[in-house]
Amino acid sequence: MTTAIISDIKRFSVHDGDGIRTTVFLKGCPLNCVWCHNPEGISPKPQLAYYKDKCLSCGECADICSAHSLSGGLHLYDREKCIGCGRCEKICLGNALKFYGRRTDVDSLVTLLLEDKDFYDNSGGGVTVSGGEPLMQADFCTELLKKLKENAIHTAVDTCGCVSKEAFVKVIPYTDIFLFDVKAISEEVHLYCTGLSNRIILENLRYIDRLGIQTEIRIPYVPDYNSGEIEKIGMFLSKLNCITKVKVLPYHNFAGSKYQSLGMKNRLPEKLPSDEDITSAVNILISYGLNAQG
Ligand code: SF4
Ligand code: SF4
Repeated sequence: MTTAIISDIKRFSVHDGDGIRTTVFLKGCPLNCVWCHNPEGISPKPQLAYYKDKCLSCGECADICSAHSLSGGLHLYDREKCIGCGRCEKICLGNALKFYGRRTDVDSLVTLLLEDKDFYDNSGGGVTVSGGEPLMQADFCTELLKKLKENAIHTAVDTCGCVSKEAFVKVIPYTDIFLFDVKAISEEVHLYCTGLSNRIILENLRYIDRLGIQTEIRIPYVPDYNSGEIEKIGMFLSKLNCITKVKVLPYHNFAGSKYQSLGMKNRLPEKLPSDEDITSAVNILISYGLNAQG
C-alpha cells in the first residue's frame, strides 16, 4: 500500500481553496524560499520541534528516549539522537514537543477525511493536498485524490510547480483545481529567492493551462525580494486561459519560533509589506485583465 510522510492535517480550513476544506500537508519541498512560513515542510524526513519556553522539565520524555535528558533539573534535547519515531510528543506534559512526519497510508487518511464530508458538501469545499510540495510524493497523491473523487469530494492540489511533468500527468485526472504558486518570472530573481530556476515551474503552468485545468495563482509578496516582479507576472498570466483567480499573499514573519524549535536557521526577511503595497500589486494584476485580490 502506498504511504506518505505527512507534516500536518488541518481541518476546517478556509484559506486553501473554496469552502470548508481539510488540508493535508505532505513533507518535502525542492525549493528553499527565504520567506518560507512552513519550514517543517522542507525536509522530507520526520522532525521533532522542541519549544523550550513550554517545557516543564518534568523528565517524562527522558524516561522513554535517550535524545532527551535532564541536567541540573533542566531538560536537554539532542537532535542528533532523534530517529523520528514521534513517541515523546504523545507523553509531553507541557505540549513542548510537536512531531512533524507521521507516515500514513491512503485508506486511513481517506477514512479520516470522509468524516468532514458534510461540511465540504454544504460549503462547496473539499480536500486540499499541500506541503511542502505534495507532488514530490506523486504516487501517494494520485491514489489519495482518486479515492476522494470516487467519494465525490472536490480536490485541490496546492503546488510550487517545481516537479516533473510526469507528476502532474499522474494527478491531473483526479484534480479539480490547482493552487499554483508563482514567485517570480525572472529566472535570476527566482534563483535568488528560492535556490532554484523557475523554468520547469513555468513550463508546468503552461502545460496544465493548455489542458484546460482550472488554476488559482498564489503570489507571495515579499518586499525587496520578489516585489519587483508583479508587472512581469501579470504579463505572463494574461497570456494563459484557465486562471480563475490570482491571490497576492502578503508576507508575514510569524514562523520565526518554528525555525528555532526545529533547530533550523531563520532567514526570514525583516521587511513586511504595507497595505498600500498589496493594493498596488493587485491593481497592477487587474490592469492585465486578471481576477486579482489581496
Ligand atoms: S521522536 Fe522518538 S526518537 Fe525522537 S526524541 Fe522523540 S521519542 Fe526520541
Ligand atoms: S516531557 Fe515535555 S515538558 Fe516534560 S521535559 Fe520533556 S519536553 Fe519538557
